Amino acid sequence: MTPTDKTGEGGVIIAKVDDLLNWARLSALWPMGFGLACCAIEMMGAYGPAYDLDRLGVIPRPSPRQSDVMIVAGTVTFKMADRIRRLYEQMPEPRYVISMGSCSNCGGPYWEHGYHVVKGVDRIIPVDVYVPGCPPRPEALIGGFLELQAIIRKQTVVAAPSAVLKLMQKQEPSANV
Ligand code: SF4
Repeated sequence: MTPTDKTGEGGVIIAKVDDLLNWARLSALWPMGFGLACCAIEMMGAYGPAYDLDRLGVIPRPSPRQSDVMIVAGTVTFKMADRIRRLYEQMPEPRYVISMGSCSNCGGPYWEHGYHVVKGVDRIIPVDVYVPGCPPRPEALIGGFLELQAIIRKQTVVAAPSAVLKLMQKQEPSANV
């Protein structure tokens, strides 16, 4: 079918490559299917029929190699930190991270005396969106995805994904040293 068949008029469709790629990426965000603690129950609720994340194109995948979003839902212990980092590195670019809940954001209830808990997953991988709460409700996670879509909508193919830039900035040696 040509535009003429559809509208009765001749014409061309012009779009920026950025807009096309961003639209494709934000319309099919595939998170990795894993959870760490109680926040994961709310994440599973968001996938269920009552909230239906599928309507946003968010469909969990069983492998990091097929995923472009990591939802860190739960307490990040030092024991799990290496595994999370490895899973993140197995995901193809462009990849994004949503930190779901207080534990993942900053250590949550364990921030002071939790000797076994990483005080924020952003110490081991770059985070794009933080979802507050203990636990956040499914609506909050959906809000996190909408926020992530807004970030992707502004991306351009000539620049590296924001998460990579953030990580590079963190690893740059200080100018004063
Ligand atoms: S933030 Fe609260 S609900 Fe989520 S994993 Fe930590 S303790 Fe559990």
